[in-house]
Order: sequence, then structure tokens, then C-alpha cells
Amino acid sequence: MPKVIVIDAGHGGKFPGAPVQTARNSGIKGEEELTLAIAIEMFHILKERGVIPVLTRWHNNELAQYLPVDLKRRAKIADIAGASVFISLHANSSQRPIDTAEGYEIYHYPDSLEGQRYAEAIMDAYGKAFPAMKSRGIEAEEFEVLRETASPAVLFEMFFANNPEENKWAAEHTKEIAAAICEGLIEVLAPASPMDINSIMAVNMKMAKGKFI
Ligand SMILES: [Zn+2]
Repeated sequence: MPKVIVIDAGHGGKFPGAPVQTARNSGIKGEEELTLAIAIEMFHILKERGVIPVLTRWHNNELAQYLPVDLKRRAKIADIAGASVFISLHANSSQRPIDTAEGYEIYHYPDSLEGQRYAEAIMDAYGKAFPAMKSRGIEAEEFEVLRETASPAVLFEMFFANNPEENKWAAEHTKEIAAAICEGLIEVLAPASPMDINSIMAVNMKMAKGKFI
């Protein structure tokens, strides 16, 4: 049975995310717009890789009228879909509307070993794909979407939305960013999948019965 990966494009609608000066610079895009573009690219990549991708949103919309409910719904989608892993996509921001803060960092729920494995694999794949980018490391955090999901979950801050250079770079590299994240996810998903363990067991049973000899 194919595995499900739930991809959450952070923010959207009335909860727009990192404040960036989109109006003054035509090349600069909002966090909610970039996370969605990357989520959709991930959808196309994953369905070719034998995984069932599920997105929490396909448009620039909120999932509820109140933020706590909006966040709970994102986690709920992962549970209803039977996610093997949940990834929430975000772009970082510092205090200033325009800044030179840079790089990527990832969060998993404290004491979630599986979440940590996904976090490490994604950071690894991302670092290999974009060696010039600054890694800010892996952190354990009790974020709502990480706490509320039954499956292993990570929240990935892929770049800084309020750094004009990284913002423009991300807008031009949504496919490459998506591909790197998918590499990391698939690397952990494949060997950890119960289906694969069953397949391996089935082959081993046949071997034990001498069917391959
Ligand atoms: Zn965000």
C-alpha cells in the first residue's frame, strides 16, 4: 500500500505569515505564496515516486476563521489522511521587514526519534542541493502542528522570506527546493515503511521454504 505524505503550505488567507515588503519590490513574494508553490511542486514529484501526497491547501486561503483552529485542522488532515509523515513548509523572518538574515532550519517535536530522523534527512538533502546556503540546524520545539499530529512531523523554515535575495532565489527555484525536500523525506520513508518490512519478511519466508533455491 502506498504511503501518504501530508504537505502543509504554511499560512494562507487571513493568516499571511512573514511580513515582507511585497508591494515595493515586484520580485518579492509572500511566505504563504512561496510555501504553496513549493508544496505543489512536491505534490508532482511525490506522486511520481509512488507516494500519495496530500496538501492541506491548494489556494491562498485560511483553513478556519481562528488561528488555533486553522492550525489544528492542518494536523487533523494528516491524521485523517493516515500520514506516514507530516511536513509543514515555512519561510523564516527576522524583526525587520528587510534583512540580511539567511539560511534554513528545521524543527521536530521533542523526543520524537522518527521526527528527528526526517529532520536530519531533509537537512542533509537540502545541504547537498544548496551547499552555498547557511544551515541553522535542527531544533526540538512544541509547535502546535508538531504536537497535534499523530504521525512524525517536521516544520521546515526553508529560507528567509524577508531577505530579498533569498526570497527571490526561492521564487526562482521552487522545483529544486521541492526536489531536495522530497529526497530527504523518501530516504527515511522507504526503509521505515511497514509495507517494505512486510515485503522483506515475505521474501525471507519464501527463502526459508526453499523457493529461491
Ligand atoms: Zn511561517
